[in-house]
Amino acid sequence: MKLRMPEYYKQFKCIADKCKDSCCSAGWEIDIDDDTAKLYDSVSGEFGEKLHKSIDNSCGNRHFILDEHNNCPFLKDGLCEIFTKLGEHSLCKICSEHPRYYEWFTDLKEGGIGLCCEEAARIILSFDKKFTTYDVNDDESDDELDTDSDNYDEDLYTFLKTARNKIIAHLEDNSIDFNNRIRDVIWYGNVLQQDIDFNLLDDEEIVDVTLSESSNLIDIFDFLCTLELNDNNWSDYLKDCSKVYTSNYTKLDEFEAKHPEVNDYLKNIAIYFIWRYFLKGCFDEDVLSKIKLMAVSVSIIRAMIFCKWLDKNSIKLEDCVDIVKKYSEEIEYCEDNLLKFFKASYELEAFNVEKIIGLFK
Ligand code: SF4
Repeated sequence: MKLRMPEYYKQFKCIADKCKDSCCSAGWEIDIDDDTAKLYDSVSGEFGEKLHKSIDNSCGNRHFILDEHNNCPFLKDGLCEIFTKLGEHSLCKICSEHPRYYEWFTDLKEGGIGLCCEEAARIILSFDKKFTTYDVNDDESDDELDTDSDNYDEDLYTFLKTARNKIIAHLEDNSIDFNNRIRDVIWYGNVLQQDIDFNLLDDEEIVDVTLSESSNLIDIFDFLCTLELNDNNWSDYLKDCSKVYTSNYTKLDEFEAKHPEVNDYLKNIAIYFIWRYFLKGCFDEDVLSKIKLMAVSVSIIRAMIFCKWLDKNSIKLEDCVDIVKKYSEEIEYCEDNLLKFFKASYELEAFNVEKIIGLFK
């Protein structure tokens, strides 16, 4: 099978002890796959004892017992003790693959690196070339095929692949104002969804959308506050951002004029969401909620970066990386939150197409 990855993936290497906020201290449950669990069972001596004591076997899926600070118990001076004591091959699948993600189709595995990792976020935000991908042969993928990998309509898959290329090309078209590009793509998603619903896979074009109605982010911030928390401070942070953004949004034009590079970061974030989620629409015949995820994420992340700028009177790539990483950890890397988002995208008034278009004035 072929594995297709974004070109920027070639730049990725975990920065380990140089990472400010390692994924090993993100408070996530780290499941241990069966093969690695067997290997850990066979380790003896002092380190073997630590390994056995640090694994919870009680509820079917074996995982590491986090320490009192919610860190992986093997994180020592920013490095992984399992890696340093037993070697890279001894890492469980989750640890050796993170922050890579994959999607399986019949003849192709696609992947990338997730924004929840600070080095991945740095690479993605600062990427200054056209988005391209490359293929490698990945024989191991033939053993990994899951049952859903061919559970889709081939015509829909081809239709969405063409649509995704058009969306990415449109997002990259610097001759069009950034807000306009996002508006056009949201409307295009709406048209595509109607085509899918009526089983008319027409070759639609992306058209220029003028602003329909203005809207604000308060309802969306409020919705995000109802989601599950990974970090207990996240909800207060969202509430603060909502207040600060609402009382200062008239300064948004000034911010955009002073920091045009932020729109480049946001464009890369938009492409990340489209690359990662849009083609999943061939499994559930729903592309509109994936487009809304992209648009809402871009809008909220922009608001957070804007608030940071108001606070510091300056903004650097590193500030943006921290914001994006946190957003991704809280919203994107919690399966329940993503499902709630996709459901809300059809149920909440604030998520209707015109309102979301209105966020991009
Ligand atoms: S967050 Fe990324 S760079 Fe940092 S330790 Fe994890 S994988 Fe490595």
